[in-house]
Amino acid sequence: MAVLDVVHYGDPILSRVCGPVVDFSNLHAIVNDMFDSMYEAEGIGLAANQVGFDMNLFIIDITHTEEIEETYIFVNSTIIDTNGSEELFQEGCLSLPGIALDVLRPEKVKLRYQTVDGQWCENEFDGLLARAIQHEMDHLNGLFIVDRVGEVERIKYQAELKALEKGSKDRIAAGSKKKGFVL
Ligand SMILES: [Zn+2]
Repeated sequence: MAVLDVVHYGDPILSRVCGPVVDFSNLHAIVNDMFDSMYEAEGIGLAANQVGFDMNLFIIDITHTEEIEETYIFVNSTIIDTNGSEELFQEGCLSLPGIALDVLRPEKVKLRYQTVDGQWCENEFDGLLARAIQHEMDHLNGLFIVDRVGEVERIKYQAELKALEKGSKDRIAAGSKKKGFVL
């Protein structure tokens, strides 16, 4: 088991589009570490770049909040369509501690993705799962919940965002080459 540090707003890996997963041979180990890290941080979803991997990969576990018994791993995903009405729902983010914002998103999402074994799939998701998928897909495209709200909402958190940015800069300057394993 390896719990990886979740990187915060201001870290450059969270502000760019992640590259595709090409080599699937190592993926199970990475995904296991991601689950350990997500549970440790008490999140319901985690994108690979939030723990320092530049990969189109994210995981979701909402088994404790909805009547869904499986956990999800999505690789090389693309949103191919969204459906339903736009709904406001409060979202938090492991990379933006202390910030929660009402984000407007469509209620259904159709996703094309690969499984951890490389099988291509296409499925439509709704409810909390659809919301979590859109949140994680934003991460893989370099976007945060603060990019999904109006300027008035964003300004409320200006001090927190500045502090997070400074924290990330200091962390990088201190040179945590091992991406902060705490084991
Ligand atoms: Zn997030």
